[in-house]
Amino acid sequence: MASKSQHSAPKTKSPNGKAESQGQWGRAWEVDWFSLASVIFLLLFAPFIVYYFIMACDQYSCSLTTPVVDIATGRANLADIWAKTPPVTAKAVQLYTLWVSLQVLLYSWLPDFCHRFLPGYVGGIQEGAITPAGVVNKYEVNGLQAWLITHFLWFLNAYLLSWFSPTIIFDNWIPLLWCANILGYAVSTFAMIKGYLFPTSVEDCKFTGNFFYNYMMGVEFNPRIGKWFDFKLFFNGRPGIVAWTLINLSFAAKQQELYGHVTNSMILVNVLQAIYVLDFFWNETWYLKTIDICHDHFGWYLGWGDCVWLPYLYTLQGLYLVYHPVQLSTPNAVGILLLGLVGYYIFRMANHQKDLFRRTDGRCLIWGKKPKAIECSYTSANGQKHHSKLLVSGFWGVARHFNYTGDLMGSLAYCLACGGGHLLPYFYIIYMTILLTHRCLRDEHRCANKYGRDWERYTAAVPYRLLPGIF
Ligand code: NDP
Repeated sequence: MASKSQHSAPKTKSPNGKAESQGQWGRAWEVDWFSLASVIFLLLFAPFIVYYFIMACDQYSCSLTTPVVDIATGRANLADIWAKTPPVTAKAVQLYTLWVSLQVLLYSWLPDFCHRFLPGYVGGIQEGAITPAGVVNKYEVNGLQAWLITHFLWFLNAYLLSWFSPTIIFDNWIPLLWCANILGYAVSTFAMIKGYLFPTSVEDCKFTGNFFYNYMMGVEFNPRIGKWFDFKLFFNGRPGIVAWTLINLSFAAKQQELYGHVTNSMILVNVLQAIYVLDFFWNETWYLKTIDICHDHFGWYLGWGDCVWLPYLYTLQGLYLVYHPVQLSTPNAVGILLLGLVGYYIFRMANHQKDLFRRTDGRCLIWGKKPKAIECSYTSANGQKHHSKLLVSGFWGVARHFNYTGDLMGSLAYCLACGGGHLLPYFYIIYMTILLTHRCLRDEHRCANKYGRDWERYTAAVPYRLLPGIF
């Protein structure tokens, strides 16, 4: 296996058409028909999927089936639905421009001060992982600060100064969708052109020879403008994730306006998702070492996904609860809260255990004991041999991706908070299950190539991926 993986080192084509070995980083190295078909399907249909969900809430009280039934039975046609869809407005363009400009400003011009006074928080200038070309990028980690300032400004303007209503996001939700799409497509197209004409690091570019695949999965590994404006960190972390909690707050404010109170389900969704978002910013330095930053290139998948897919589809529960103000019984609410918190605990602890283990090179305690590990080696693109270790203690001994299992438990909790009336709020758990299962297989394929026989020893020691005894 080890020697097979050496011979089958991933190959891609450089701009001059020559095949070259790319080591084990990055996106797929050979575009098969299935990948290409999936890419074209997503490029064509993902924007419609988002539109369909948001339109279904706006025009059909979040029913996913009624629009289809209405069209099939002739009660409505596509032109009617489109005619009832709010267009882009000057107000939405102004709001969105202001929003993105504020995030660019906070990201690029305000060095982190949180790490100076928050004990345990790691921010400021940090290094990312080494790229295939041997580059180690530096990042200004200031996401927590951006989140805090943005939310302070939100409460100040919406509640104290009353410059705008806290329902402003909900009230402009569809006009803002068009703005988010414009930015998503603009940034992906710019990234593609930049990858061909003026890449930040030529050696870290990947070209497959297929235009659609390159556009979707990206050409450049870490596109930057200037020394600090990193596309991947900016679009992944802001404006989508900072917006996530603000969007939920706006939905809660709309519930208050419409019904005179905020339901316990809306509070649960706001609290559980805020914990997830804050966790992301508190651990932004750790995030520099995750698959998104370490292995994925920047294309439409990340550019459009972060601008449109994330803020619009990850917040469906809050949107749904505006139309269906579910009040949960106390036992149900407590059960869902516990599921969400236990899921979050597993997600955080599993990620923390791996991070601690790698940072200390195994010189740490996991669940009170010295961790067990599998020693492994791999060869990088430049032919150099490296050594690494795979943890087999703690959650990493329970299943090979128990961090994903915790994430899925949390995701299920958000959906369950919406009750059983409609399918729409359950989109998130369905999507996350597909995303994380696919990610798990993708990651394991990469690890098998990277570690060869050592990876086989690890899978023998920890035989299950997500759920012990099942998968
Ligand atoms: P992981 O944090 O699980 O990282 C996988 C990498 O860890 C592998 O490629 C390998 O890298 C290393 N590794 C694997 N097994 C071991 C082991 N036993 N011991 C030590 N290192 C090991 O994956 P992600 O980066 O995908 O996820 C990070 C978190 O983000 C997850 O908790 C996930 O749930 C969450 N997430 C959330 C998403 C969302 O949309 N909400 C989307 C994606 C992720 P190496 O080459 O270094 O050995």
